[in-house]
Amino acid sequence: MQGRSIGEEGGISRRERRGRFRAYGPQPSASPAKRHRRPPTLLVALALALLVLTTGCNGETSPTTAPAGRPDAGAERETPPRVLTTEAVPPHDIEAEEGVEHQGTAPGETSVVPVEVKGVVTDVVISIVYDNTATRPDLTADWGFGCVIETGDHTLLFDTGASGSLLLANLATMQVDPVDIDIVVLSHDHHDHTGGMESFLRRNSAVTVFAPRSWVETRTKSIAESGATLHTVEAARSLCEGVLSTGELAGSPPEQALIAVTERGCVLVTGCAHAGIVSMVRAAQAQTGRNVLLVVGGFHMAGHSPAELAGVIQELETLGVERVCPAHCTGERAITAFAAAFGDGYIPAGVGTVIRFP
Ligand SMILES: [Zn+2]
Ligand SMILES: [Zn+2]
Repeated sequence: MQGRSIGEEGGISRRERRGRFRAYGPQPSASPAKRHRRPPTLLVALALALLVLTTGCNGETSPTTAPAGRPDAGAERETPPRVLTTEAVPPHDIEAEEGVEHQGTAPGETSVVPVEVKGVVTDVVISIVYDNTATRPDLTADWGFGCVIETGDHTLLFDTGASGSLLLANLATMQVDPVDIDIVVLSHDHHDHTGGMESFLRRNSAVTVFAPRSWVETRTKSIAESGATLHTVEAARSLCEGVLSTGELAGSPPEQALIAVTERGCVLVTGCAHAGIVSMVRAAQAQTGRNVLLVVGGFHMAGHSPAELAGVIQELETLGVERVCPAHCTGERAITAFAAAFGDGYIPAGVGTVIRFP
């Protein structure tokens, strides 16, 4: 390694060929978190929990969301793109999340065992291609998450966002050719992470797909029928040299995260962190025997109180996390708190954000 740090523009010829990227989005406000709103009553919370269980993370009821059990039904639906350049908040009521935040089935209770780490990657480049916010006017924001992870030997797509057409458009604008992607990792069974899958596979089915074991057979069947090589993941496992899955971690729904292992330490990429972001970092550390230095993705903390936020931040710092790129469902107040706590270690997320590690 040449001592390259996150955000530096030089040194990545692969990236340079693809044009100029903004490594950082707009600087966030460092103002104190807003006053925490009171959670709804238990009755409302239970009703909302049922709603979330039948829709997706944070009750994705956006126009691009298909009902549960209809994989990818909304992927090709054309809806006017929303460009949310400052608010990391979905169009539905954020209050809805507050009552259901901790209704999941025992997150963090997965038993974690060490996994053989097959090699390390020299460096890793993570490009966010689908998120609730965008860092450039020529990229489109939408509720969901997806990123491209380049290790040198492999190019992985982690989650596909909600809309296939939007995913492919953002990939094109960011000069990422879908054909260059050889591995697809799907974090969990929520439409805002999987909706673009079938469109992507129609563009490039010569990929190996790693989907959670808990998925319904009809959904994994459509992947296999595309011609892609399908692996269902239950326990932690190697995905390619230097890249692992945490395996399904307990949450609602169960979720796998991606670990890229470098000589310096690990990068953890999460979809929604339904298993709990601290639990997922702990799992990755226990599985690899190495510190997680950078965490990128949805942290699912919109319903956390200021005290809970502070507790999570402190735990991540204690675990040795140096940099965070909280995206997607993290929640505006949580993102503000992360920015204040991590300072230079905070990386604003949005479509167009490119992170180089180490
Ligand atoms: Zn999500
Ligand atoms: Zn989710």
